[in-house]
Amino acid sequence: MKYETVIGLEVHVQLQTRSKMFCGCSASYQYAQPNTHVCPVCLGLPGSLPVINKRAVEYTIMTGLALGCRIPEYSKFDRKNYPYPDLMKGYQISQYDLPLAEDGALEIEIEGGRKSIGVDRVHLEEDAAKLFHLPDGQGEPHSLVDVNRAGSPLMEVVSAPDMRSPEEARAYLTTLHSIMQYLGVSAGNMQDGNFRCDANVSIRPEGSSEYGTRTEIKNMNSFRSVFLALEHEVDRQRRILEDGGRVTQETRGWVEERGVTVSQRSKEHAHDYRYFPEPDLPPVMIGGEWVEEIQRRLPELAGQRKARFMEQYGLPLYDADLLTGTRALAEYFEEAVALRPADGPSSQLYAKNVSNWMLGDLSRLMNLDNISIGETRVTPQHLAELLNLVDDGTLSNTLAKTVLEEAFASGQEPGKIVDQKGLSQISDSSVVDAAVSQALAENPKAVADFMSGKETASRFLVGQVMKLTRGQAKPDLVQELVLSALEKARDV
Ligand code: ADP
Ligand code: MG
Ligand code: ZN
Repeated sequence: MKYETVIGLEVHVQLQTRSKMFCGCSASYQYAQPNTHVCPVCLGLPGSLPVINKRAVEYTIMTGLALGCRIPEYSKFDRKNYPYPDLMKGYQISQYDLPLAEDGALEIEIEGGRKSIGVDRVHLEEDAAKLFHLPDGQGEPHSLVDVNRAGSPLMEVVSAPDMRSPEEARAYLTTLHSIMQYLGVSAGNMQDGNFRCDANVSIRPEGSSEYGTRTEIKNMNSFRSVFLALEHEVDRQRRILEDGGRVTQETRGWVEERGVTVSQRSKEHAHDYRYFPEPDLPPVMIGGEWVEEIQRRLPELAGQRKARFMEQYGLPLYDADLLTGTRALAEYFEEAVALRPADGPSSQLYAKNVSNWMLGDLSRLMNLDNISIGETRVTPQHLAELLNLVDDGTLSNTLAKTVLEEAFASGQEPGKIVDQKGLSQISDSSVVDAAVSQALAENPKAVADFMSGKETASRFLVGQVMKLTRGQAKPDLVQELVLSALEKARDV
């Protein structure tokens, strides 16, 4: 029997606000000393009262709008009760039946086209503290708790069960990640836990309209592990069904080292969260004007920008795709393109040139140093300057690569590098003339070959002249002078 895979993803996104969700503590704890960003509210002391972080609500509405969701006028927070050592209050403030955003969709690109994946809801909640179980190995086992993360704003994006393969789940995740990054609402680093995904997966006989029993997989900390965990889980469920068994609804953990999912807790042990409206917070009323204002401020997202890059600059899909991979890369590109001199090449030609340098040599250098576009010392101004130096004939392409390497290492302007190193192309024909004479004198065999009709021998001589001038002569000038010198020698 053939089976169809059904996947729904729950993604937790840590919002990049300055303060935490319900108190004034700093939310940037990533590199802070443990338990230094703590107050009575996020420590969960009795009598302390939460206050809603407006920026977190705004970021959630922004995300909702970017995902085409409806933003209801009325929303509220609820208490989700469960005891756990990392949960300071014994309950988490979350949203239950009235989330901030509902019924949107995310368009993904899949082989052969596009597909719309439903987004059921986007809601806001608070993160828990963090536990460290020690030691790893010998000694008396004990656990430590760091409360810094407790009360950080956490946004949850819940998809409909619309994905039909691990590939689609991966496309959904990378697209959602890109949107978060373009919106600037989250650092979105999976390794740091800013972007966490729980994957729900089931399979059913092909053609069936009912969903099969699902499992929920946790503990994946990269796009790759989500993909691998889903592949493994689909396979595990298929084998159970083929053996005549039944899949049990449960939570399973992904064990990266072994490449398997293992049972963590079954449905029978599922929590009854006893949700009820959070009595310490007022309901949230979202004004239509605020939503409109946020809508107006929504930045252009990767998909739109990619289409515009192709349309406006005539870039191939390949280039547009890579250049819009991150917002920083796309902005760097447009900054450099905006610096095109009025008397320079056409805007499309120039844009393709910028793209070639960015995706070619600049990317290569960045990869070698493992840095991103935001960290390179080559600014868009530097790149534009380099392009102009090639364009006006000062630099050959080969020399320009050298200058870029130098600029990349030192952060110096290309013009200064050219001056300091005397790198500019030799366009003085008397200098080139001397080199041509020398090349011809030193290579009588090549000259004789040319005379006997082997035209390609001239290419060898051009190469010799380039060598003698350390690559600084203008190739077309060399070509011209070598040929005329050979013709002259023939006439003699
Ligand atoms: P819960 O309240 O238990 O978290 P939800 O109905 O909110 O359950 O669904 C959680 C996630 O599970 C959603 O992303 C949803 O798309 C997904 N999901 C629900 N049913 C299935 C199924 N049968 N197979 C795969 N995913 C599913
Ligand atoms: Mg859930
Ligand atoms: Zn606090």
